[in-house]
Amino acid sequence: MAGKGKKKPRKERKRETGEGREKAGAAEPEETASAEYHSEQHLSHSTPIEEKPAPIDLDLARQIIELEPPEGGTLPGLEDLEEPPPPEVPEEEEDSARIKRGMFRSRKLFSKPFTRAATRRAIDPQFWEEMTEVFIAADTGVQAAEDIVAATRDRVFSEGLTDLEEIKQAFRDCVAEMIESFGSPPPPPDEKPRILFIVGINGVGKTTTAAKIGYLFKRHENRVLFAAADTFRAAGIEQMEMWANRIGAPVVRHKTGGDPAAVVFDAVESGQARNMDVVIIDTAGRLHTKKNLMEELSKMWRVADRQLEASPQAVLVIDATTGQNGVNQARIFGGAMDIGSIALTKMDGTAKGGVVIAIGRELGIPVEYIGVGEGMADLRPFVPEEYARALI
Ligand code: GDP
Repeated sequence: MAGKGKKKPRKERKRETGEGREKAGAAEPEETASAEYHSEQHLSHSTPIEEKPAPIDLDLARQIIELEPPEGGTLPGLEDLEEPPPPEVPEEEEDSARIKRGMFRSRKLFSKPFTRAATRRAIDPQFWEEMTEVFIAADTGVQAAEDIVAATRDRVFSEGLTDLEEIKQAFRDCVAEMIESFGSPPPPPDEKPRILFIVGINGVGKTTTAAKIGYLFKRHENRVLFAAADTFRAAGIEQMEMWANRIGAPVVRHKTGGDPAAVVFDAVESGQARNMDVVIIDTAGRLHTKKNLMEELSKMWRVADRQLEASPQAVLVIDATTGQNGVNQARIFGGAMDIGSIALTKMDGTAKGGVVIAIGRELGIPVEYIGVGEGMADLRPFVPEEYARALI
């Protein structure tokens, strides 16, 4: 049984979970003597990119790695450069394949510099420039793009990689390492039920995401209760009910126009009485009445907080197609409640898959879920290596 005193200040929890603002590249670049930098003996095999990006050494960057085709064969790694698969959605699809399929637009963007390098049969300065441009086009932000490319280039040179597939893998490793430095989502509390507020502006995919998160919990044998706390829109309540029915989970709802905090109160009480594992609360997102919405959300949060030993948790839903706008949204919603993690939706509709990195860097809030389609199973827990493999 969780005792009182479970709740910890946000800052303290961040320290414990490693969730923090260790912005990769925030530190000053280390002074590195060019000669030492050049020498293979002095190059570490894995430069931790979150600590200090190496300064760009132009001599080194101008070096060209010749790509050697095997006898009678194609260039190494070329077989992986085929066009991305069409976005078909078989229900029984493997989870990692689902993410790969969903992020095909971003992957297509990243495949171009590799294809060109294969045509030129060389990893040359143009390749590193093109990769930097591609990261920027994928919305990572300029600094992150430069840091990732610098760290990968170091690794490629220090390890003497000449195979395109190995070079790709070096990029993936650097991307995953950077994302891991942003911290992990908060762990579930000891106390049941876990209360999850799903917040975000209208249209980002909030209700759908609430349902999909519920479906993920159900798939892991959890008892799920939904709360339709967007009482402002009748359609919102109906949509939540429709999803709850499909998933086979109960839903707490009041009349349209009712007090959403009252819905929260009833849902938490019902969740406790019915021994639910998780209560998922869909909330309103009409931002044109920003002040009222934030006051309403704060009130809902306080109501749930008072009913529980542990703190409720909040997942902010951001539409990946709106890119870095999400950073502002996180700041606004963060004023009303403690945002523990982010669900990034509609990754299938954009080539801006790098926004995961921008958000992690700028906000220090980890991405916990990514949405790659409209189907129930198209929301996946975010795994940095899996994401990096889908991206590059
Ligand atoms: P809300 O207003 O924030 O509650 O948004 P909804 O949940 O009603 O979703 C708005 C639209 O976005 C719906 O058509 C959803 O099917 C769609 N949507 C949600 N998530 C995704 C996603 O990951 N990919 C795609 N392609 N569409 C999504």
